Amino acid sequence: MRNVHAGLPFTAAEFSDEQLAAALEDLSVPALLVSCVHMSRPEDRAAILASELRPQGSFLNEYQGFLDADAQARARAFALDVVRDWRDRGCPEPEPVSPAMVKQLMEWIVGAAVGDEYVPLVLEELELDGADERAGAPVAGAADYPVVIIGAGMSGILAAIRVSQAGFPFVIVEKNAGPGGTWWENSYPGARVDVGSHFYCYSFEPADHWTEFFPQQPEVQAYFQGVFDKHGLGDHTRFSTEVVGATWDEAAGTWSVELDTGESLVARAVVAAVGQMNRPFVPDVPGGFDGPAFHTARWDHDVDVTGKRVVMVGAGATGFQVAPAIADQVKSLTVLQRTAQWMFPNPGYHDRVGPGVGWAIRHLPFYGRWFRFLIFWPSCDAAFAAAKVDPDWEPQATSVSEINDIVRTMFSEWITSQLPDDPELVAKVVPDYPATGKRTLQDNGSWLQTLSRDNVTLVRAGVDRLEADGVVDDQGELHPADVVVWATGFRVNDFLLPLRIIGRDGQDLRETWGSAPRAHLGVTVSGFPNLFLLYGPNTNLASGGSIIFASECEVTFMVECLRLLAESGSAAIEPTRAAYDDWYERVQAEAQTMVWASPHIEHNYYKNAEGDVHGINPFRIVDYWGWTRRPDPADYQLS
Ligand code: NAP
Repeated sequence: MRNVHAGLPFTAAEFSDEQLAAALEDLSVPALLVSCVHMSRPEDRAAILASELRPQGSFLNEYQGFLDADAQARARAFALDVVRDWRDRGCPEPEPVSPAMVKQLMEWIVGAAVGDEYVPLVLEELELDGADERAGAPVAGAADYPVVIIGAGMSGILAAIRVSQAGFPFVIVEKNAGPGGTWWENSYPGARVDVGSHFYCYSFEPADHWTEFFPQQPEVQAYFQGVFDKHGLGDHTRFSTEVVGATWDEAAGTWSVELDTGESLVARAVVAAVGQMNRPFVPDVPGGFDGPAFHTARWDHDVDVTGKRVVMVGAGATGFQVAPAIADQVKSLTVLQRTAQWMFPNPGYHDRVGPGVGWAIRHLPFYGRWFRFLIFWPSCDAAFAAAKVDPDWEPQATSVSEINDIVRTMFSEWITSQLPDDPELVAKVVPDYPATGKRTLQDNGSWLQTLSRDNVTLVRAGVDRLEADGVVDDQGELHPADVVVWATGFRVNDFLLPLRIIGRDGQDLRETWGSAPRAHLGVTVSGFPNLFLLYGPNTNLASGGSIIFASECEVTFMVECLRLLAESGSAAIEPTRAAYDDWYERVQAEAQTMVWASPHIEHNYYKNAEGDVHGINPFRIVDYWGWTRRPDPADYQLS
């Protein structure tokens, strides 16, 4: 069978030379040239790689390898000949490339050396052999181990697909009326993904239809709906039903999963796929406001903000997207920004995808795979160094290392270059803490353009209280409002809230954790057999990658734990106490060496009230990938 990424054959009658030339104009030249390598006869490949037309380096969201317009034009003209020749030869399936060749292609396309340890990761992630290696082989005995999955968001859908492929019966319980989780709930104006969508999709479900490189919420939700439907998950899902808790029955080796309907589901394993950012946080401030007020994740679409005075509290990733989307509709917009945000320059953040891209993903061998790699690679461990604290670096209050300081300079210049005539606004929007210490935002200039509008005011203050007619900031100033928007984020450090999970010996999971949630590799918990957390403690990626990549690692690990359980006919699997404690100590020690724990950042959801980092994975992506390929039997006990 033809490799699914080898390109659907086409003829000159179906796609003329003119159409071909037009399509190539939309493409990433580095990914196109690597596709040409695949299309070429083995004896011709080396010449392409040896040509002077080669990427000059890689950078997040830089798709042209820093080639100038002339070099791009020459590369496209060259590629046109290669594609035409391949087409006229009948679009033969390309000869497979060896792992050594893959490494060569990786190094060529990013213009830098790549460590050997990344090659197997990339081979798995890109599926160049056309095989979905992460699907794993069916598990013997799986039919006796029904699984309940809590949540039909990104990670719940993924878990369902994988447990289904392994042969486990499963039910998904989802509190919303449809799938998508965060992409279902966050329908606020301007909501869009800020990881490139050709990478922000499952490795085994690439999409060729994105209309924007960073699409808006309806399109992302539709993607998850489409994958959900394609894999037939609807028949397994109970929507508009909330899990309230789960209790382990030691004698039976089962979980009883309690629903808000009063029913219980009995399962051998539970997968909690509830996300880290599912429970909105609204500050508990005194007073009351008489008009409409809502959190961004509960946007009230019945409220028309046109011509209204809107006060928005919060300027994180969400507020940053809302403001540009509503500024030209509202009478006035006042943004209360307690802490300024660092922004990463991404001029193409709102760019549309040309029609040639989808065509190339469908028809040109491995084009989509290498384009995915181009987005993945600069965010895969490359940014890690800038987040690492150099204890000898001074002053730590503004940057944590030399490279972190370089990033600070780059980000500062990006911000100030946009405001040459507005020193007052510059003073409000340039952060005073180390870069990348809080979540860095993707910026194409729309935020500062919005703040520069006459009807928009940025107030660098927090919120103190509500009045019937507005919001009072912590400097005592009243900001009159018709509508109040809380863009104040989520209860990120309250893992699994409000689930009541009772494990062995009647232990309540959230009580056991207290303010220190933990899970071995972020997935399994000692004393809570056959419980698997997705997007659990210390699994969020702050310096790169995508949360889909992290979830694919966690789900692989979860299924491999289930494999150990079912194939051994055991009742329970859980990490040993030693492995569980050791992981926690290592993860916490490592987290304290990263910028996210910086004591110079006063407000940061990356830290809890004690200054500990329980959400973020402080290890390299390649390490986490390696550790989660399968459980180490020495770290797990079966009973
Ligand atoms: P957030 O990053 O936690 O930001 C919350 C905002 O509210 C911050 O400006 C915060 O100020 C402010 N705030 C909180 N409590 C306050 C108080 N008592 N008084 C005044 N201000 C207060 O939440 P978010 O913007 O919803 O983003 C959460 C996460 O969701 C992001 O980091 C990202 O991971 C994800 N997200 C992703 C996308 C995307 O992919 N496109 C979009 C949106 C969100 P301080 O900074 O001072 O704490």
